[in-house]
Amino acid sequence: MSTTDTDKKPLNFIEQIIEEDLRSGKHKQIVTRFPPEPNGYLHIGHAKSIVLNFSLAEKYGGRCNLRFDDTNPEKEEQKYIDAIIRDIEWLGYDYGGKPFYASDYFDILYEYAIKLIKAGKAYVDDQTAEEISATRGTPSVPGKESPWRNRSVEENLDLFERMKNGEFKEGERVLRAKIDMASPNMLLRDPAMYRIKHARHPRTGDKWHIYPMYDFAHGQCDSIEGVTHSLCTLEFENHRPLYNWFIENLGIFPSRQIEFARLNLSYTITSKRKLLQLVEEGIVNGWDDPRMPTLSGMRRRGFTAAAIKQFSHDVGIAKRENLIDVARLEHAVRADLNRKANRVLGILQPLKLVIENYPEDKVEMVQAVNNPENEAAGKREIPFSRELYIDRNDFMENPPSPRKYFRLGPERMVRLKYGYIVKCTGYEKDADGNVVLVKCEYYPESKSGQDTSGIKVKGTLSWVSAAQAEKVEVRLYDRLFKSENPALADDFHTELNPDSLTVIEDALVEPLVKELQPGDTVQFERLGYFTVDPDSTPDKLVFNRTITLRDSWAKKS
Ligand code: ATP
Ligand code: MG
Repeated sequence: MSTTDTDKKPLNFIEQIIEEDLRSGKHKQIVTRFPPEPNGYLHIGHAKSIVLNFSLAEKYGGRCNLRFDDTNPEKEEQKYIDAIIRDIEWLGYDYGGKPFYASDYFDILYEYAIKLIKAGKAYVDDQTAEEISATRGTPSVPGKESPWRNRSVEENLDLFERMKNGEFKEGERVLRAKIDMASPNMLLRDPAMYRIKHARHPRTGDKWHIYPMYDFAHGQCDSIEGVTHSLCTLEFENHRPLYNWFIENLGIFPSRQIEFARLNLSYTITSKRKLLQLVEEGIVNGWDDPRMPTLSGMRRRGFTAAAIKQFSHDVGIAKRENLIDVARLEHAVRADLNRKANRVLGILQPLKLVIENYPEDKVEMVQAVNNPENEAAGKREIPFSRELYIDRNDFMENPPSPRKYFRLGPERMVRLKYGYIVKCTGYEKDADGNVVLVKCEYYPESKSGQDTSGIKVKGTLSWVSAAQAEKVEVRLYDRLFKSENPALADDFHTELNPDSLTVIEDALVEPLVKELQPGDTVQFERLGYFTVDPDSTPDKLVFNRTITLRDSWAKKS
């Protein structure tokens, strides 16, 4: 299947449910939501969920809410909220301009809790957390009912209000749903709904001394917003009966929860906790380090929003856990950049080349194609002169298989891309035996585009003109982890790739790059795609290698 015909894919199981709900008239308009907890930066797994939720809303003419699940004030910060909004906007999705917050519904959730207390379906428990967990039982052994389970409604209302007013210490009491201490589903054994926390909330300040548990907030927030299809990852499958219990007993809008398998990517970690560790331990240079699987990291590296969206569509929706080959993401990035990125000539490991029969002070402009995949990208001119740099890897004194070697070596001929054919007439070495200078002759009648020389060569090399080339810093990235599934390791530190970053201080690029701005991406011919990093200064550009040209996924598929 090509990478662009997502519309022709058969419907996935979520689309089937949605289409049936629209056909049957159960819903006139679908509403989905993306509900991040603002306790970290978004990563590629979140992107998958964002693309799923927003593209379903787009496809079926519905709406997708962005809702911050901010029920845990100790771990949540405004900077994460800002970063999440920035990332979603970068992906190009419309959340209606106004994000929602679970904390906006704290009053309603409190009313819901009161309603359950009044119905005899919730109670204040005075047991400690240890006692509660010790009496929960096991999946095969029923739990023990709390001695406080049958308190009167009046007493429960009174205690709950005093919990809210901050009269008790943290951990002294919790509000629990009165469901079934013998349920085979442990989550139905009188789960906690509210706990006491004397924490200041970024949005509600000191108003609350109790905060709803995630399990009492999430489903209810969906209902309040009229979310028709609440898509979440598989670990919430056994929470569904609990969410449905709340919906039934509160008589509120029945959002339908549908679970799908989370995205796991090979050679990648997508646990917010571990990503935070990478940042805090200085293993990477911040959340937006180009090696990070965060949206901000991938953006800085030069991955495009279009590629991430295409990848998310291509991998589809699964009902079982699986591991997706990171090469598929890389493939999508290459496919997109191949169309969008202009080509430039760049040299990572410069080796001087002198054309001895070329006039000393002459600089001639040669024409270069900006993008062979896109005629509209036009052409440009690059300076050519007597002293050039080629890449060290493009010269060999004694190639191991001379018949298959088409680059430069003693007496060998190559074309300098967009320029002339040259023949190597000699070379010089330093005291350590490294080649430091290559001498050539050129054939004046072999100029690219007007070649009358009749000479045939098989090799074409990149080059830059020594006097005009721009010196730049290049950061080469390799995978952050050397093992395919670093999440399985007891300690992910043992799986880190020590060579994930290589810095080249003095790469050379054709002079045109001076015009590039941070975020711009070009292809250095034969070397890969490179994106200008915000660390660039007016004196020196810094490039991130976004990705190499070789595509292991394309070959496989
Ligand atoms: P945690 O809840 O442990 O802090 P999380 O990754 O679930 O971490 P959330 O902020 O709760 O973080 O995630 C927001 C949404 O993104 C959730 O609906 C979640 O299901 C979804 N999501 C998170 N990780 C993935 C993933 N790897 N693949 C698909 N969806 C994901
Ligand atoms: Mg979560």
